[in-house]
Amino acid sequence: MKNEFILEANFVSSQVKKAQLHIDIYSQQILGFDESCARHANLILPEDHLVFPGFVDIHVHCRQDASGSLNYKEDFSSAAQAALNGGVVAMMDMPNTPCPPVDLQSYREKELLVQNLPVEIIPFADGGGDLFSLGSQDLPFKIYMGPSVGGAFLCETEDMRFNNLRRKLVSFHCEDYEVMQKYNHERAHGRRRPKEAEIVSIKKALELIERFDLEGIICHISSREGFELVEDAKNRGIHVKLEVAPHHLFFSEEAYRADQYFQVNPPLRTLMDCVFLLERFKKGKIDFLATDHAPHSLQEKKEGTSGLPHLDTYGFVVGKLLENGVPPEIIYQTCCLNPGRIINRYGQQRYGDWKEGFHARFNVWDPKGNMQITQEKIKSKCLHSPFLGEQILGEMRLWDLRGEQ
Ligand SMILES: [Zn+2]
Repeated sequence: MKNEFILEANFVSSQVKKAQLHIDIYSQQILGFDESCARHANLILPEDHLVFPGFVDIHVHCRQDASGSLNYKEDFSSAAQAALNGGVVAMMDMPNTPCPPVDLQSYREKELLVQNLPVEIIPFADGGGDLFSLGSQDLPFKIYMGPSVGGAFLCETEDMRFNNLRRKLVSFHCEDYEVMQKYNHERAHGRRRPKEAEIVSIKKALELIERFDLEGIICHISSREGFELVEDAKNRGIHVKLEVAPHHLFFSEEAYRADQYFQVNPPLRTLMDCVFLLERFKKGKIDFLATDHAPHSLQEKKEGTSGLPHLDTYGFVVGKLLENGVPPEIIYQTCCLNPGRIINRYGQQRYGDWKEGFHARFNVWDPKGNMQITQEKIKSKCLHSPFLGEQILGEMRLWDLRGEQ
């Protein structure tokens, strides 16, 4: 077949396997995955290279909505370029903008804004919105358990509107409003939003997930205690999964003390929390590496706005995880397979695995290369990164056989 390209390499799935990937160059879909390596390959990669499916990020703030008022921070087009730069081929966009998708009509309007982009983007519906209207469709929902950056938030867990969300995917930002009120007088960001806020809020979210039979995701886990609550709920058979963001693995509260730039919700915790979460990540006990990409201008960061940008550096973070002893098979699980299973429920294409009909852009890890994060390399409109200046051994690069990257 003229449109068929055959790549022979070491592919990462539940184990690293030598195989041939057959790709339809025009449709960018996988035609087949052949472990017998029976055909003549168009290209054979060196033995030490590892190939991962295109990454999938289920927690991104692209900022654009019908109002366009935050387009100076980021828009869908710049977010898509930043994603490709980080090896991300599909992602899910959070609803907390000035014009959030609060009913079916506004959701459909947001969907129109994500057409014809080089990265598939699935918008979350606002769980603080009209759940009667939104709940009539199988959409993903986001619920804020306390105030963060924009958006409605929830304090009432007795709310029967949640009957509309049975078996739906619901992502929870877990920081409890009442706990944060109690610490309102504190000066330091981390003290105003202590671990206690995460712990109390996760307990409430787990109650909601169990009571209303939701498919729950706890976003950006930041503390050991929070992790253990979710792990315990999983062991009790509750349908809940867990995200971790790069900053909660690689930066502690020391970073924030040195530089207010590192202000983020939930805040950075102790070094012991980082080490704990990284160890659990290595063992495959965290379901998703999700960036919580939250671009702000540098001026806004100086004025104390919460959030860090991460899309451009997704592949860099994966490199850091490999460097820290995370097995490639766990990267495949947390960055491809698991988030792929989430987004595949809603999207046009299939992502995150080596199966026939799945999306065919892939990431190649070359352990002999190197990566350094500089401002010129950043495609996000914010033009900054918590990893600026950092360098690692090894290089992750997204391959697009149509050369349209
Ligand atoms: Zn977020």
